[in-house]
Amino acid sequence: MTRRLRLAIPNKGRLVEPTVRLLRDAGLIFEAGERALVARVQNFDLDILFVRTNDVVEFVSDGVAELGVTGLDLVAEAGSDAPQLRTLGFGKCRLTIAVPNDSPFRAPEDLAGLRVATSHMNLTRSFFAGRAIPVDVIPVSGAAEVAPRLGLAEAIVDLVSTGSTMVSNGLRPIEEVFASEAVLLANPAALRDRFDTLDTIQTMLSATLAARDRKYLMMNAPETRLTGLEDLLPGLESPSIIPLAHKGMVAIHSVVEADAVWSLLPRLKAAGASGILILPIEKLVQ
Ligand code: AMP
Repeated sequence: MTRRLRLAIPNKGRLVEPTVRLLRDAGLIFEAGERALVARVQNFDLDILFVRTNDVVEFVSDGVAELGVTGLDLVAEAGSDAPQLRTLGFGKCRLTIAVPNDSPFRAPEDLAGLRVATSHMNLTRSFFAGRAIPVDVIPVSGAAEVAPRLGLAEAIVDLVSTGSTMVSNGLRPIEEVFASEAVLLANPAALRDRFDTLDTIQTMLSATLAARDRKYLMMNAPETRLTGLEDLLPGLESPSIIPLAHKGMVAIHSVVEADAVWSLLPRLKAAGASGILILPIEKLVQ
């Protein structure tokens, strides 16, 4: 008998909340206790393993878990070739070279012969090697941003999302090394042997993510204004047009980008739409 599928996700840190939210939004029912190591999903043949963000890649590569969620930066740093089923749209950040504000360095080339502190040693080494810039890479396990102040290094390579941590540490970015976000990883053997189940989970997550970005719009309009309104509503394919009991009037239904809704509303009204409803979409399978 094949054992229950396992999905390894971070147990601490900034990827936990968005990962757990995605799984719950996808409809999986489980309890994520503070100290639980494994959560049994009640409505799917799946166990969730809570492990260190750094260890997810290893769990998936070794086949301890069939699936995993972690940062692309950690996958690249580990040099893992585990199949990446899809990126997840959260945990976005950039691995960036930064130097103290008052330093003269403007470009990676200016760091030749100097020390660079980072917790992403492999990505940092291969970046500088790729540019043929000799640097001394100093490993730190965290808090790289304090290294210049401590006199440990002249520059750092660290993850940035808003940039505020760097600013508050008196650092300025000079170049991006790697763009990261959360990713769904699979174990290669499991992907081959249990493809259907892995594909079902991937579809669940994809349908949930696609639905988040879109809204369902419903509105009424005189039939004579249809062409103008259709031009405003590209929708997923084409909008649905439904005749109303009131002759000469139609209902128009369309799926639109969530970010576009507010700028679209006044234009729809001006083009003749009335009774506009904006509805959330629960899942969207494309
Ligand atoms: P953790 O250290 O457990 O909070 O998780 C670190 C992972 O979160 C990194 O490897 C990245 O993939 C991701 N991440 C997203 N934004 C940031 C950020 N601003 N700083 C550090 N890590 C980030």
